Amino acid sequence: MDAEQLRENAHRMVDFIADYYKSIESFPVLSQVEPGYLRKLLPDSAPDHPESLQQVLEDVQANILPGVTHWQSPNYFAYYPSNSSIAGFMGEMLSAGLNIVGFSWITSPAATELEIIVLDWLAKLLNLPDDFLSTGPGGGVIQGTASEAVLVVLLAARDKFLSRIGKSSLNKLVVYSSDQTHSALQKACQIGGIYPENCRVLKTDASTNYALSPDLLNEVISQDISTGLVPFLLCATVGTTSSTAVDPLPALGTVAKRNGMWFHIDAAYAGSACICPEYRPFIDGVEEADSFNMNAHKWLLTNFDCSALWIKDRKALIQALSTNPEFLRNKASQANMVVDYRDWQIPLGRRFRSLKLWMVLRLYGIQHLQQYIRNHIELARQFEDLVSQDHRFEVVTPRVFSLVCFRLLSPDDDGDKGNKLNHDLLDAVNSTGKIFISHTVLSGTYVLRFAVGAPLTEERHVNEAWKVLQDEASKLLASVQNN
Ligand code: PLP
Repeated sequence: MDAEQLRENAHRMVDFIADYYKSIESFPVLSQVEPGYLRKLLPDSAPDHPESLQQVLEDVQANILPGVTHWQSPNYFAYYPSNSSIAGFMGEMLSAGLNIVGFSWITSPAATELEIIVLDWLAKLLNLPDDFLSTGPGGGVIQGTASEAVLVVLLAARDKFLSRIGKSSLNKLVVYSSDQTHSALQKACQIGGIYPENCRVLKTDASTNYALSPDLLNEVISQDISTGLVPFLLCATVGTTSSTAVDPLPALGTVAKRNGMWFHIDAAYAGSACICPEYRPFIDGVEEADSFNMNAHKWLLTNFDCSALWIKDRKALIQALSTNPEFLRNKASQANMVVDYRDWQIPLGRRFRSLKLWMVLRLYGIQHLQQYIRNHIELARQFEDLVSQDHRFEVVTPRVFSLVCFRLLSPDDDGDKGNKLNHDLLDAVNSTGKIFISHTVLSGTYVLRFAVGAPLTEERHVNEAWKVLQDEASKLLASVQNN
């Protein structure tokens, strides 16, 4: 690594990226390439001799960017956002520059200690109970994703139960969630050896706005107990992936406590909104939770990946995940004086991810971050108004945060035709390249999702997106009427 060469190349790369952001609106938001497009454009094998950065950047421009879906475009409204920011970007750069591997405290004390401090900061910003702070028996850790977070939580809960009831009782452990819970939980169950027949996916519907019913949960738990099964994990969601449903945490927490279960809260997307006092009530009830997770990389201006997980009983996590090979032994670890985050996660190696969260919190400050969230929610509210004013459309579920679930009404009121119509509208809109939205299915109905949350999105982008949707809807309805 030659320092001067780094300086020159990195400056050029930053220029390239800055130019990309300047022209980001000129690209189709959803990549329009066909599968396998890149193999035709690149050589079959790596070069024998070094090429220049200029050549590589030309290839990026000509061959890679067409195959990129532009998540940072202000016209990106699909899935959930995955934020980038100058602060987050610089944190990533610094992390790449230092390139430490902070699995044990000794391998870079600052990496471990900054992560502890920054997660305490964020816990305080979210007004999480003190039990989640590093000063008590719990603490926070940065995982790569919400999927990793729920997996390590499931393993901790599983082993805590098995140590009490015996390893041979694995087949008795039951997990509870709703049919709106992210599939990450199912994957965690598969990896964690939970018997598929013991995964209770409880049905939701429009009567609860797709939130999990505590009464139904109670009923199912009672049945399971009566057949000798052991309820061990309840996963609630604040801001479900399909429609931002909010499970009733206080009531669910009571059920979990009464049955001695581990209570996990997945607030991957909506957790960011809870830094605003007016949205914090959505996580009231977190006091009863054993673990809480939110993705700062979704909607808190922290570049991917940065999934914050807090746990009340860090010992449970460490007992499930710790190993102690000779080659990792050192004085600080052996004396139990430090946190070794390798025991809080699946891999050994870990990046210095707290740098970017630290930079985001410091360079933007709490008030600016709150304003950022409020602005997106206001833009979503405006979009919801636009949809409501056009009698050809309907808003399907009440908007809670910055996601609007809506659909084009079928002229002949036919469910299947209505689903096809909306599927066609999604394809038509995304094929324009002007915007990118995604879909879900709620109670058998195909629904369009418009998620505001890209950092560059302004009111004009929302208005233009609505115009694209209206124009494509008009064309579709005309073609349906002509057939
Ligand atoms: N949970 C919720 C509520 C989500 O919306 C998502 C993704 O959108 C996930 C979990 C999975 O996130 P990750 O990609 O961080 O595993």
